[in-house]
Amino acid sequence: MSKKTVCVIGAGACGILIANRLSRKFRVTVFEREPVTGGLCAEVDRTGPNRFNHFFSQNDKNLLAEIRSVGLGDRLFWKKAGQIVYPEDQLALDLNGPLDILRLSGSSFWQTFTALAALFLLPRQKLGKMSLEQFFRYFGTVPLMPQALSYKFGASAASVSAAYLLARCKEGKNNRIGCLAGGTRELFNAWENSLKLRGSIRTNTLVTRIMRETAGWLVQTAHGNEERYDILVSTIPLMETAGIFPGLMDSLGPDFSLNYLSIVCPIFRLKKPLSSGRWLFISSVSNEEAVCVDTASLTGENLVYFPIYYPAGTLPPADPVAKFKRFLIRINPAFSPDWIQEEWISAAERVEPVLSPRLLTLRQSCRGRLNSLYLTELADTGNMLKSLDGCVEKSTLLSKRIMEKC
Ligand SMILES: Cc1cc2nc3c(=O)[nH]c(=O)nc-3n(C[C@H](O)[C@H](O)[C@H](O)COP(=O)(O)OP(=O)(O)OC[C@H]3O[C@@H](n4cnc5c(N)ncnc54)[C@H](O)[C@@H]3O)c2cc1C
Repeated sequence: MSKKTVCVIGAGACGILIANRLSRKFRVTVFEREPVTGGLCAEVDRTGPNRFNHFFSQNDKNLLAEIRSVGLGDRLFWKKAGQIVYPEDQLALDLNGPLDILRLSGSSFWQTFTALAALFLLPRQKLGKMSLEQFFRYFGTVPLMPQALSYKFGASAASVSAAYLLARCKEGKNNRIGCLAGGTRELFNAWENSLKLRGSIRTNTLVTRIMRETAGWLVQTAHGNEERYDILVSTIPLMETAGIFPGLMDSLGPDFSLNYLSIVCPIFRLKKPLSSGRWLFISSVSNEEAVCVDTASLTGENLVYFPIYYPAGTLPPADPVAKFKRFLIRINPAFSPDWIQEEWISAAERVEPVLSPRLLTLRQSCRGRLNSLYLTELADTGNMLKSLDGCVEKSTLLSKRIMEKC
């Protein structure tokens, strides 16, 4: 019996990984509209840095296992990852553990002492049930805590447990972030090479339409080609899949919608390091909280990038580069524009959907309804947002499910 055929739309991390896994059982073809694979991880240009210069955390268990399994374990390297906050009109403050947080709070010696003693003496279970806010309220260090917490955790500050603080305290300044020596491109090269042994990738090929047939799917491309496949996996945003398959939203039901964020991201290559930190949390009254990632000396280059998120479908913020330069001066008053060697600006039309409890319920209820059309955004995983680790997790789960079913 001949193998079933699979079409994967998109050669970002999810697409190329799913294709690799499925090619063990099926004949797989990946369609990618760009000239290179990588999607959001692709390069800004052929000679430039990886777009967003991806890095990993030590908690990225799925991704690290994947990196090792494709033989790139010895290309990984780790650096300490100091975090610094730049609250409005304040000097830079380290934020790497409870001591730093307590210092931020302006509490008395006695309050600091009791809070720390409680942190180490209370049973872990109890800390797990107590939110950080409750913890600090209880130990009387409330005044500046909400400010410090929201710099660090944004909107989810209220749900962070006190056990997190203990974990951070133990990790302390040994917290590290990792990178591949040659950037995420190395990973994509390894995935591409293994896929090419058993399947194929067609770059420069935009999928313009998909149509359901009695048995399988008809796929049309911008070149005017039409091909038939038994199984279809779309790794592009749900709304874009709906654009090429108008029946999709009806199949998902009347209540179905996903929220996306868009992003505009200036990246600068600097002649010298900007700071001693890696993650810089910046906040200002005139601008929503922003994260500036300073990868100084992580990759041997001084790259700094400044992702500004905005709701999909609305206009991007005006003049992000000028805004960024103002922040650079705040981070390092010695900064001057002649430090900039090169600059890029990239605008991602999408960031992954914003995860909500409602989406989780919908995901459960959509299972199986679409019959041989699989959407990564409905893949059954708890880690959907914005990380390569999440991509590995959801691709592995979804490909397992497809192999079991077909
Ligand atoms: C600013 C920023 C920084 C990040 N930093 C990190 C980080 O440091 N570490 C980390 O782990 N993760 C990071 N991430 C997250 C990571 O980039 C994403 O999770 C991952 O790249 C998403 O992969 P994907 O395959 O789901 O989607 P995408 O990468 O978007 O892939 C979709 C692919 O489909 C293609 N495509 C679209 N439409 C069509 C069509 N009609 N026909 C054919 N092809 C099509 C696109 O060209 C693209 O290649 C970051 C993300 C952003 C935005």
